[in-house]
Amino acid sequence: MKVLKFGGTSVGSVDRLRRIPQLLPSDETAIVVLSAMAGVTNELVKVTELVKDRKMADAIQLFKGLEDKHVEVASNLFKTKLYKKMGEEFVIGLFHPLMKKLVNGIDNLNKYIALGEQLSVGLLKLLLAEQGYKVAYIPAFEFMRVDKDNEPDYFYIEQNLRRQLHINPFAKVYVTEGFICRNVNGEISNLGRGGSDFTAAIVGNVVNASEVQIWTDIDGVHNNDPRFVTNTSPVRQLSYDEAAELAYFGAKILHPQTINPCRIKNIPVVLKNTLNPTDEGTVITTLSSKSGIKAIAAKDGITAINIRSSRMLLAYGFLKRVFEIFEAAKTPVDMITTSEVSISLTIDNASNLNDIVNALSSFAHVEVERNQTIICVVGDFLASHKGYAARVLDCLKEIPIRMISYGGSNNNISLLVDSHYKVQALRLLQQLFPAVKQANSVLDEVDAQ
Ligand code: ADP
Ligand code: ASP
Ligand code: MG
Repeated sequence: MKVLKFGGTSVGSVDRLRRIPQLLPSDETAIVVLSAMAGVTNELVKVTELVKDRKMADAIQLFKGLEDKHVEVASNLFKTKLYKKMGEEFVIGLFHPLMKKLVNGIDNLNKYIALGEQLSVGLLKLLLAEQGYKVAYIPAFEFMRVDKDNEPDYFYIEQNLRRQLHINPFAKVYVTEGFICRNVNGEISNLGRGGSDFTAAIVGNVVNASEVQIWTDIDGVHNNDPRFVTNTSPVRQLSYDEAAELAYFGAKILHPQTINPCRIKNIPVVLKNTLNPTDEGTVITTLSSKSGIKAIAAKDGITAINIRSSRMLLAYGFLKRVFEIFEAAKTPVDMITTSEVSISLTIDNASNLNDIVNALSSFAHVEVERNQTIICVVGDFLASHKGYAARVLDCLKEIPIRMISYGGSNNNISLLVDSHYKVQALRLLQQLFPAVKQANSVLDEVDAQ
């Protein structure tokens, strides 16, 4: 069984939706995980923000616009009158009760945010049915659930997903929503923005898929962020570790948590371009293609915290005290550097920052810097090879660097810069690629001796 996930742009228009059946495997059963049509989740989030601001007329107008957009898609997507009618009725049937609540009072705003995926999945299911596929809809709300720590509840998911598949034993294609789930109390929730990739990975894990394919609008993972750097190129092979670092440190093409569920079961993750399906894309497995620098990513919205102890920092017990505070605040730490008297570390979730600073201030001097960016250089940096860090720093010699972290793993050199320098840093680091090829060949020669 294969799991295929199609992102927002891959379901973003009638034309794109019509391409999906051609991309399904002919030889294996498929579970198709869909995102909302491009831009729709953003608009739904806006609707919920307008509701919170009590701007109900604006919320209703925006919501109505989304209904009209989907009705239009339904009226153009299908060939037969019957399916056109079913499509339009399906869309109106989903909007109608939520529109009523918008007027009369809302209970759970996440119901609105979930609508985008429900719409695209329902429309694709009808399209496949019209074309004669043996297709079954398996609602994500019937099996996708997170626990009290917002982690996937694998036991629950496995039991319920298997039940859903068994209810429809003759289907060759199952369709389900990405992103949306229930929380520990069974309420409607989601896996966070961009979470459809994560859904696909969790589903792949649970059904022991032979492959998880992530279909998007670009030919795989590029060696730098194509939104800011022009001459990027696809990386054909990445190890799970390399891909996880890139996803975690900002490569938008993959939701940060996508790799782990597949790594655990050794399931290949393949990133493919819907607009150019014959391109090989990027394959992620345990194998790394070769040593050296593979790709660069950047993660914004980072807060740096400098903690200076009046006593000797590395007196034992000090670090424990510091990290207990982050644990109590349920705030993960990304980068850490230490000196004799202080620690600098970074967090990307500053929602409990005040509590953290108050607690740390009881035994240390604390300084906070917001608007920082982690620049992450990813590759396979064998400890025996020389020169990687030097090359990275050489590219960035014009940029003030706030922190450097190297050696935590063989796969990552991270640098913290003020967000103001992010784009400049990414562009300067692109010089690494032609230069690194030469460096590698020199290093390979050294190895061969
Ligand atoms: P989808 O809607 O299919 O999930 P996303 O917009 O989430 O697509 O991810 C694809 C986009 O990620 C690309 O269009 C590209 O602009 C952006 N991106 C950022 N970093 C990278 C990278 N290193 N490689 C490829 N794409 C990247
Ligand atoms: N539709 C959701 C979002 O825009 C989930 C996804 O696309 O992966 O965040
Ligand atoms: Mg995405």
